[in-house]
Amino acid sequence: MMTWQAPALIIVTTAASGYCMYRFLQLWKLMKAHRGKAPLVADFPARILTFFLNVLGQKTVLQKRWIGVAHFVIFWGFVVISFGTVEQFVSTIHSPYSLQSAGADCFGAFVLVQDLFAVAILLAVAIAAYRRYFARPEYLGTSRDAGIILALIAALMVSILLMNGFNRGGAAGLGLVFKWVHMLIVLGFAAYIPGSKHLHLVAAGPNTFLRTLQRQKTMAGIDFEDAAVSQYGAAKITDLSWKDALDYYSCTECGRCQEVCPASLSDKPLSPKVLIRDLKDSLFREKNRILAHEHAGLPGLVGKEITEDIIWSCTTCRACETACPVFIEHTAKIYEIRRNLVMMESRFPPEVQAVFKNLETNGSPWAFSPEDRMKWAEGLSVKTAAGESGAEYLLWVGCAGAYDDRYIKVMRSLVRLLKKAGIRFCVLGIEERCTGDAARRIGNEYLFQTLARANIETLNRYGIKKIITACPHCYNTLKNEYPAFGGNYEVIHHARLICQLIQEEKIRPAKGYNETITYHDSCYLGRWNGIYDAPREILAAIPSARIAEMKSHSEKGMCCGAGGGRMWMEEKAGKRINEMRVNQALETKAGIIAAACPFCMTMLGDGIKARNMDGKVNVFDIAEIVDELTT
Ligand code: SF4
Ligand code: SF4
Repeated sequence: MMTWQAPALIIVTTAASGYCMYRFLQLWKLMKAHRGKAPLVADFPARILTFFLNVLGQKTVLQKRWIGVAHFVIFWGFVVISFGTVEQFVSTIHSPYSLQSAGADCFGAFVLVQDLFAVAILLAVAIAAYRRYFARPEYLGTSRDAGIILALIAALMVSILLMNGFNRGGAAGLGLVFKWVHMLIVLGFAAYIPGSKHLHLVAAGPNTFLRTLQRQKTMAGIDFEDAAVSQYGAAKITDLSWKDALDYYSCTECGRCQEVCPASLSDKPLSPKVLIRDLKDSLFREKNRILAHEHAGLPGLVGKEITEDIIWSCTTCRACETACPVFIEHTAKIYEIRRNLVMMESRFPPEVQAVFKNLETNGSPWAFSPEDRMKWAEGLSVKTAAGESGAEYLLWVGCAGAYDDRYIKVMRSLVRLLKKAGIRFCVLGIEERCTGDAARRIGNEYLFQTLARANIETLNRYGIKKIITACPHCYNTLKNEYPAFGGNYEVIHHARLICQLIQEEKIRPAKGYNETITYHDSCYLGRWNGIYDAPREILAAIPSARIAEMKSHSEKGMCCGAGGGRMWMEEKAGKRINEMRVNQALETKAGIIAAACPFCMTMLGDGIKARNMDGKVNVFDIAEIVDELTT
């Protein structure tokens, strides 16, 4: 080996590695400087499995076919090419360690494999470049960083091919030149990674391993008794958690979240991709102050880039989180920012003020008297927990079921079905309060906990064990969020119960429907709780009915626009989400839109009216459909 090569390579490698380590150490310290509560990490076997499936197997990446395959090729191609790169560094520093000493055949095969993978990666890079610069889907955008990365990857592969080609052709001098070109690009690439979107190469694996495993994600609670806590929610970037920082490090800026976000699609100011990028930029912009522990001087999170309108645009539908290939949790950050705005600064859309007041005084988002909570059941002989002993289930009526004229009809249908099936149930009546879902999602955790504790006290006092509810928001809160406050119940959504009753032949929708029906997935039933099949099985059991799926359905279903407290906020910017969703329903030519959520029903009904299709297309709850058809 020529004498200058080993020392020269050692010097540049040491310099590049030193710089790289310094940058990664900074990133690590920045993560550690976060003060928010991160979720607990448990269940290691499931984490190892998710790592194998989604990092090594690239399962989530492959959900998009062409670019997924291209990414798969680049990922595994790099793994293979790395063996050659290591060989180049090692053999340059100490020539006896060259693989060439293993024999010409062995080395030739090794080089051939390297060449094949280099060509495959070049093709994959060409697909990625075509998509980014020619096909240009809106959610992807153009980025200088992405261009630099693609150019670097291409240069790495071309230098390998030229190196091997010249070596094979006997031009060892030129082969050596390109070996050095390749090694220097590798070092440059490594130094570039910590500050680029390709930081995901390092961060996405750990982020996938540390992801929230349960679909039924609960919001983190706040201990209001803890005197040491003087601030609620996130006011500054470091008020979020280290896991949030790992999320930004992992973002590939692929735009899959933006592609499915109802806020982005309806031209609201929120793009989940841009939000994550802005949070990362805020962190990097303030890194000197953060590393110097000058937290007090940090600017507020909500300001020029991340505006209040962005934060209030989210419907908490979690379409972004389902689409994200590296399991970034956008909503967790939005909740923390909302909490700070609401509880520390009293900043929220003005129309929400009345909702908070009603929840505080009436236990419902509407200004109805709690004394009127049983009016919906007039003439149905529905018993209350106070008067009934021996009921198997408690029927959770919910505020819409009790007060909303349209949803009262649904509740009455459900009661008739329960009676037909011989189910013994009771209700809380005037003792029921709003579950607090909207208060929690909007950011008023204190109000949520007040409502939750009051309900839990009532439910536990009556020894309630099983709850039926027709509202996915109540379902999610009762089932997944009340246990943290001592409320442990078996909660069943009416979609599952009706499906079960049909399967057990306790109710039979014997009359047919010569009609096309399309089912709208509620986000809190589907993406939040994984219930996609039960409502569809109910509709499939209806004689003569034809079922048509909308363009976006099941896990990719589009939000109606009401979740996350948006039900009580005005929709001033962009297009109306409910009308966009209704357009998808109308495309199916269905005469009936089936729903399983009171908010969805309101939003879809309003959308139908806005399209002047009132009377031509009807929105029914699945309970109403089955009730009408059951003898
Ligand atoms: S939860 Fe829904 S509305 Fe909110 S950012 Fe994600 S996709 Fe958009
Ligand atoms: S948050 Fe996830 S889906 Fe959105 S751009 Fe980043 S990696 Fe892609």
